[in-house]
Amino acid sequence: MEKTLVLLKPGALQRGLVGEVISRFEKRGLSLIGIKMMQLTDEILNEHYAHLADKPFFGKLKDSMMAAPVIACCFEGVEAVAVVRAMAGATNGRQAAPGTIRGDYCMSNQQNVVHTSDSVENAAVEVNRFFKKEELFKYSPMSWPFQYSTDELGND
Ligand code: UDP
Ligand code: MG
Repeated sequence: MEKTLVLLKPGALQRGLVGEVISRFEKRGLSLIGIKMMQLTDEILNEHYAHLADKPFFGKLKDSMMAAPVIACCFEGVEAVAVVRAMAGATNGRQAAPGTIRGDYCMSNQQNVVHTSDSVENAAVEVNRFFKKEELFKYSPMSWPFQYSTDELGND
């Protein structure tokens, strides 16, 4: 099972999209194993968006991420990183395919509702960045035997 980080950006909270976006991941079959509301700081954003530090939009991106709290979620599932990333859609909401979160809920390259981890390696780092060990919960979702085959669950 993989774990991945989702941040519901300040715009998701302000626009009342938190429930709808989380609901999409739940309905897909991803297990929510951690969730909390956070006010992000310059410090954590410098780390989280370090790969964009030399971009002209870096300062404005950080401001947009501090404009209101975010909801940090950790979802778990088989190949969860790629599944969640595909559900988010292309970075620019105007180019994101309909049916994706960005393609259904936004029109912007920056105000694009969600952050999702982009690789298994980065997901591990990002989950660690936003959640303490004791904030992640281990449980066996009752639905798993109806969502996955036994080999997908590693039970064979
Ligand atoms: N972003 C922006 N302008 C750009 C590209 C990205 O403001 O031209 C913002 C946007 O909010 C995006 C975030 O920077 O979600 C992180 O960029 P990244 O390339 O990692 O995109 P993502 O992984 O979020 O799709
Ligand atoms: Mg990214």
